[in-house]
Amino acid sequence: LAGFVDRLADMSRSAGSFHDTLEVCADRIETAVDISQLSDVVEEMLRETRIVQEDARRSKDDLASLQQQVEMANSEIAKLQTELHNTSELVRHDPLTGILNRKGLDEALKREIARAQRRESPLCIGLLDIDNFKRINDTHGHHTGDAALQHLTEVVKDNLRPQDSVGRYGGEEFLILLPDTDVEHAVAALKRLQRALTNRYFLAEGQKMLITFSAGVARVAPDEAPEAAVDRADKAMYRAKRAGKNRVMMA
Ligand code: GH3
Ligand code: MG
Ligand code: MG
Repeated sequence: LAGFVDRLADMSRSAGSFHDTLEVCADRIETAVDISQLSDVVEEMLRETRIVQEDARRSKDDLASLQQQVEMANSEIAKLQTELHNTSELVRHDPLTGILNRKGLDEALKREIARAQRRESPLCIGLLDIDNFKRINDTHGHHTGDAALQHLTEVVKDNLRPQDSVGRYGGEEFLILLPDTDVEHAVAALKRLQRALTNRYFLAEGQKMLITFSAGVARVAPDEAPEAAVDRADKAMYRAKRAGKNRVMMA
């Protein structure tokens, strides 16, 4: 930019001095008494015109190179913006399932709590934990365990509303955020997920396998800390486990 401004100043100076010279030459042409006097004037005009032409050519080259530098800087900025965007996506998402990770969930939960308070609308959370997951790992291997986590993620995503979010809270624990939902409807939503899981078998080494989960549902109370609400959902989820698993309990 500084180079560009300097160039503009040079161009304006040289255009100004060219203009002055032309005026002087015009005077001299007007006041010439015979043709021989014109020869010097014409020669000077030609010389000045060449200087200005040369100056304009250099300015054009300089500006072209400046433009190239600006274009390079712009594409570097665009590249860095993409990298920054991808990095912050990575920081908030779980690499195995692609859904929010703990950090992404914490942020989403804070955002949803603030929105629910602003709108005075109910916000529910559901914490679900896969039943007997260790057995899947032990029987079929860690790789199949990973595939089961991905399968559950797909089923959950396909059965939630667009405004709901899901994230991986821990190993085989998932947290679901249900805005604008009272607790009865949230329990019904979690039960719907359980039915969807029974309808969509998970194939482990070509073998149909039923994945079930236990869940606790809590409505986030006004002014309640996010951790406190998750804690209540967690306790309800453990009650569901103790009651025989594959069920949903209300906090
Ligand atoms: P419960 O029904 O009481 O929940 O029993 P469980 O077997 O599901 O629970 P437990 O806490 O004993 O086991 C959870 C297992 O989840 C243990 C751990 O190895 C496994 N796990 C955690 N993260 C991953 C992962 O990313 N991939 C795989 N394959 N397994 C995982
Ligand atoms: Mg667990
Ligand atoms: Mg479990």
